[in-house]
Amino acid sequence: MSGDEQFRAEGIDLAGLAAEAQALMAELFPLPRSLTGAGVRATLARLAQVAPFATHEVPSGSACYDWTVPEEWSVRQAFIADAQGRRVVDWAANNLHLVGYSVAVDRVMGFNELRPRLHTLPGMPEAIPYRTSYYQRDWGFCLSQRQLEAMDPAGTYRVVIEAEHAPGSLTYAQAVLPGSSGREFLFTSYCCHPSLANDNLSGPVLWALLLRELGRRPHRHGYRFYLGPETIGALCYLSRHFYEMERVEGGFVLTCVAGPGPLGYKPTWQGDHLIDRVARRTFAELGLEPVEHPFDVLGSDERQFSAPAFRLAMASIVKDKYHAYPQYHTSADDLAFVSGRDLAATLGVYLAVIERLEANRAWRSLNPHGEPMLGRRGLYPALGGAIAQPAAASDHAELTAMRWVLFFSDGRHDLLAIAEKSGLTLPALARAATKLVANGLLEPA
Ligand code: ZN
Repeated sequence: MSGDEQFRAEGIDLAGLAAEAQALMAELFPLPRSLTGAGVRATLARLAQVAPFATHEVPSGSACYDWTVPEEWSVRQAFIADAQGRRVVDWAANNLHLVGYSVAVDRVMGFNELRPRLHTLPGMPEAIPYRTSYYQRDWGFCLSQRQLEAMDPAGTYRVVIEAEHAPGSLTYAQAVLPGSSGREFLFTSYCCHPSLANDNLSGPVLWALLLRELGRRPHRHGYRFYLGPETIGALCYLSRHFYEMERVEGGFVLTCVAGPGPLGYKPTWQGDHLIDRVARRTFAELGLEPVEHPFDVLGSDERQFSAPAFRLAMASIVKDKYHAYPQYHTSADDLAFVSGRDLAATLGVYLAVIERLEANRAWRSLNPHGEPMLGRRGLYPALGGAIAQPAAASDHAELTAMRWVLFFSDGRHDLLAIAEKSGLTLPALARAATKLVANGLLEPA
């Protein structure tokens, strides 16, 4: 089976999801997101139309371990105008132009005085960089090297930032899909970047679509979804849900999922956790060979979720990982860089991973004293030689899967371990187990 056929077989409509992801990214891209404020709330309000979740507000000044929720930041306008009043840099044209959390300014300045506050990327002269100053009160503008070169070194400029820092709150979203297995997995993303597409608008869009798709499917495990600003939001969440984290076995940070490059994988800090094994097994079964990004402490919110007090096993399946593409954190990470098709491809892999997490469990043979007699139960071809015939290949495959499951169903080997040993797929082993249960040969371990 090709990858697309495999997804169809697992009930995943990649084309439909691609169109929806494309439209959502286009709609949400211009919203001025930051750590706090109206842009984040508008983004969450739109995503709440995709999948149901609750939003929570944490007041400014609240302690989140070693951090404090900042004041809320809102911007009405921000620009640099030349002596003729022409706006040479304008936040209304691109919200990356203003350094995040800039304080209010209204001044006339010579170019040389202004210059230290102007940030460019000389190596990417058309692109605007992304800069923030969240925790140090400051201001500045980001512009392309071309825009900088067009300014007059002898000129004077009026700089206006109409922005306010005021007590408010930090907003985060949470949904919990309860399960019956007593096991729980976590999916997180962050929503604090302004008009930047792969890092990071693609993450929250995939987060909401995954939440909806998972909510529509039968599932045994519990799934917890968190979305908020990176770092401070994760710390807020952890500080307010500390005890619930004990139930979580591990999960994924959804980030950078819609780029044009090959699929990539950043493992958990352990590297061989169940999360890693299921992810790697899924890649193998789908015929994917993702780029391996070694674990690095300079990651996303796994820096918090995997910290010593929590040690959750968090991995990321990415398409153009942060730091690994030149457009990262620049205005070139825009809607032309990402696509709904690429996002849906990553989403399909995440759904396939979840299907395997669901399928994976340990069984116990109810006939452990040797092989059960399958023929007596109609589970073995009547003519023994027929299993060598090509026409019976699918029967043969099912029989082989049943024999692997029976052999290892000692309560200690789960289906993932059997898949790793046999090379058979987890869904095929799960189907075999279902058939054996129906014939009274297996029970849950
Ligand atoms: Zn980022």
